[in-house]
Amino acid sequence: MKRTLIVTNDFPPRQGGIQSFVHGLAARMPADSVVVYAPAWPGCERFDAGLPYPVVRHPTSLMLPTPGVARRAAELLAEHKCDTVVFGAAAPLGLLAPRLRAAGAERVVMLTHGHEASWARLPLARSLLARIGRHADTVTYLGEYTRRLLAPVIGADRLLRLAPGVDTAAFSPEVRPGGAAAALEAELGGGPVVVCVSRLVPRKGQDVLIRAWPWVLRSVPDARLVLVGGGPYRGRLERLVDRLGLRGRVRLTGPVEAADLPGYFALGDVFAMPCRTRLGGIDVEGLGIVYLEASASGLPVLAGSSGGAPDAVLPGETGLVVDGASAGAVAGALVELLGDPARARAMGERGREWVGREWSWDLVAARFTRILGAEPAP
Ligand code: GDP
Repeated sequence: MKRTLIVTNDFPPRQGGIQSFVHGLAARMPADSVVVYAPAWPGCERFDAGLPYPVVRHPTSLMLPTPGVARRAAELLAEHKCDTVVFGAAAPLGLLAPRLRAAGAERVVMLTHGHEASWARLPLARSLLARIGRHADTVTYLGEYTRRLLAPVIGADRLLRLAPGVDTAAFSPEVRPGGAAAALEAELGGGPVVVCVSRLVPRKGQDVLIRAWPWVLRSVPDARLVLVGGGPYRGRLERLVDRLGLRGRVRLTGPVEAADLPGYFALGDVFAMPCRTRLGGIDVEGLGIVYLEASASGLPVLAGSSGGAPDAVLPGETGLVVDGASAGAVAGALVELLGDPARARAMGERGREWVGREWSWDLVAARFTRILGAEPAP
């Protein structure tokens, strides 16, 4: 039987899009066909004990392509009789590919995300990415935006699409807020709610949502904004809420447990994350899986036109895409959605149907199996 070693810096219990993506792929492979090599993270012993396949933890919280990591990965390849290596992210650990080929790997697959697409725009990083890609049989990409950036660097013939799936059973219009989300719902007062779920970092645009809120309130006085997620920007955002006199109308929940997350989407009538590209194109959205989670939850979405975010929206059908840097544009789109509940509901229904058809984990798992089994490049 074919066995796969997944070498990845991104793996739960650390939270984030790539972590969920890699875990979602591993969870859908036959348990005796996969071994994961990932960094240690608080709570990892308990997390790993619940998995049906082995996870070997590196002692520190970050793995770099050093001789020590290469040696350990080669040992695991031999010990578990793996013939295939998957790098959870091509950059930078894909640099280990030649060493693992020498140790017996017959097939090397590298996943890419938003950051590899950013590397493709920077002169030095681009040549490193090209070097990494030369050692892969297949490099995966998230969507049209990242494919366009990666193709000239990696070579179009090596690229295959692989984007994360969405758990449409967990994220569903049937879910009701529970626990702390239910308590929050009671405090919100019954008006329409816009919810944003994301890490609190400048690119995701929670600041623009807050700045847009006084304009939204002029048209929809009882509207409330709920910002779910944690991150380094939290203090700045709290101060912005205070400065604009929005306390009570804008609520920040902090990070929430994965099991509670669908209940927070369920608080919303509209989902909004007006992400924007920063730092001259280096800090950019790769896909924005949260838009798909929101669609699966039956919500219309408001997305920012950053990078691959529009790949996760059917503009005018499942939601609206606006310039995430413009508080005026964001306010206008929110007022439009809040002011026409029938259209907003129809967008949510269309989104749920689209995600079920195009973004299910069953489809993604079948695609991944094909990618793993494909013939090695000549
Ligand atoms: P990324 O963080 O830039 O990779 O953004 P993505 O939108 O690609 O992925 C973020 C993932 O993290 C999505 O699956 C979110 O639902 C999830 N997420 C964001 N904030 C939280 C949180 O507070 N708790 C939990 N459990 N998940 C979160």
